[in-house]
Amino acid sequence: MVDYGIKFWGNDDFFIEDGLIKVNHKTNPALIDIVKEAREKGFRGPLLMRFPHLIKKQVDKLFNSFSKAMKEYSYKGNFHAVFPLKVNQMPHFVLPLMECSKERSYGLEAGSKSELIIAMAYTNKNAPITVNGFKDKEMITLGFIAANMGQDITLTIEGLNELETIIQVAKEMGKPCPNIGLRIRLHSIGSGIWAKSGGINSKFGLTSTELLEAISMLEKSKLLDKFTMIHFHIGSQISDISPLKKAIREVGNIYAELRKMGAKNLRSVNIGGGLAVEYTQHEGCNHCNYTLSEFSSDVVFSLKEIAKNKKEKEPDIFIESGRFISANHAVLIAPVLELFSHEYDEKALKLKDKNPPLIAEMVDLYQSLSEKNAIEYLHDSLDHMESLLTLFDLGYIDLQDRSNTEVLVHLIIKKVISLLKHKNHHDILKIQERVQERYLLNCSFFQSLPDYWGLEQSFPVMPLDRLNKKPTRSASLWDITCDSDGEIAFNSASPLYLHEVDVTKEEYFLGFFLVGAYQEVLGMRHNLFTHPTEFSVVFNEDGGYSIKQLLEAQTILDVLDDFDYDTKEIERILKQKIEESALLDEDGKKEILGRLYIMLSENSYLRTIISDQTQ
Ligand SMILES: *Cc1c(COP(=O)(O)O)cnc(C)c1O
Repeated sequence: MVDYGIKFWGNDDFFIEDGLIKVNHKTNPALIDIVKEAREKGFRGPLLMRFPHLIKKQVDKLFNSFSKAMKEYSYKGNFHAVFPLKVNQMPHFVLPLMECSKERSYGLEAGSKSELIIAMAYTNKNAPITVNGFKDKEMITLGFIAANMGQDITLTIEGLNELETIIQVAKEMGKPCPNIGLRIRLHSIGSGIWAKSGGINSKFGLTSTELLEAISMLEKSKLLDKFTMIHFHIGSQISDISPLKKAIREVGNIYAELRKMGAKNLRSVNIGGGLAVEYTQHEGCNHCNYTLSEFSSDVVFSLKEIAKNKKEKEPDIFIESGRFISANHAVLIAPVLELFSHEYDEKALKLKDKNPPLIAEMVDLYQSLSEKNAIEYLHDSLDHMESLLTLFDLGYIDLQDRSNTEVLVHLIIKKVISLLKHKNHHDILKIQERVQERYLLNCSFFQSLPDYWGLEQSFPVMPLDRLNKKPTRSASLWDITCDSDGEIAFNSASPLYLHEVDVTKEEYFLGFFLVGAYQEVLGMRHNLFTHPTEFSVVFNEDGGYSIKQLLEAQTILDVLDDFDYDTKEIERILKQKIEESALLDEDGKKEILGRLYIMLSENSYLRTIISDQTQ
């Protein structure tokens, strides 16, 4: 059995049983059954499933881990967390997140005015709001409005000009003034693809010189008592813990020094995000070299040591983990529409009475294939194909011969794979790179996995069923955009094997996991594909689940409307063209118009899975 590396990336959220991948919660429904239920309601195309219980699971893990570390070291500061909204702003994520963390000091982090409005509306009572990113006077004023509402809000300053604006707004609006945080430009640097947010050349934060200047500005304007937090963020998906440890030491010392300089209300160290998620499906290819408990212990221990050495009080710890909290709650399901080589069956072979010698030889190879000679004959036939394609280019064979060549090669590949199915995987491995199958998926990678396209971030992928059968095809995945970047290519270092299925007769679904962080809002409407139909799988008291918060993929007209097309005009023009068409009689016009209207009210993912009954 192939487990698609679930033991590396699965986080115990899912497990495999009876050939199916199941949710590791309550009644353990199989993902495929949830998919079927959604499809029975009429939803086609890709589906995005959310699992609110997995949001709670991560929040609990984070708090429990820090609370354990703090207890272990008798740490005297408190622990608080905020979720950075840029990682997932979707209401069907944010609202369940706030709901499940009501009892905790868990708030929201905002990086723009719109995000701040979400934070002001939905942060739980007494939970903190932090504001990062570049701020103008209006955004700072919003912070004062939040403070006036009684929110516990901290504005983190990225540069001295922002501090000047705060001082100015404080004069205009008076009390209450939000708490002020200073973002520090660290000397240490993160690692991983996202490591641009930290380091001496980073886009954000104050240098030591600017820090000193900031303190003196705060003092002069009598706002030093509002300065409560220092902050850093060394980048996302920090795969190696050592730069993080260095950064904590650096920031811990800055904390102690600033307190000694008179910043007596400085009480919190905000360590930003960066906590990594394990995405790998393959042994030895880890994306992360530490555990959460190692991480929390290191943070607590380092800050405790520094406080002790410098005789300052142990700071409250704030964390802004986004990826760690949200990645695993969402799964993208993509129906397989087609296997590229599927059209090459024996019926497609149209041999002539007299065939070119190489083709005759390939027919021979095909017929006399056996387990023993499989690899050798496969290589021969691949060589023959190369020669035959050259002969075609030179004009020596015709299109029918070329088609027969393609069909024969595919027939031979399939027969070889099926002959070797029960043998050592090694034999199959040897040929996989040359004989991949392309699986066409009813989804858009640009829309649903943008980090794959932009950063080559890989996501765990696996079929939802048939897991008790050995997958035999080395697979590359293609989406339905007409962009050649819409491909997840086969990689022999971390190969993907899928099952040989006839999708005209049976359905086959792939799940992409850990897609709940960053993907949704970064997704783009390339080719005007909209977001997938999404819903939450909510477990009830009795253990069963219900499909809730369903949000259908946008219709074609809605998408065009979003792009500021005048959709009324589009409808009018199309209708007029049909009505004026000389090719149609009155009944024909009505019918064509009816068909067109139905399509305009559907989304643009493909509806047919080849045959009509499975649609
Ligand atoms: C993006 C960001 C985060 C979240 O980082 P993750 O790696 O997703 O945890 C936290 N804080 C700040 C300031 C950020 O910009």
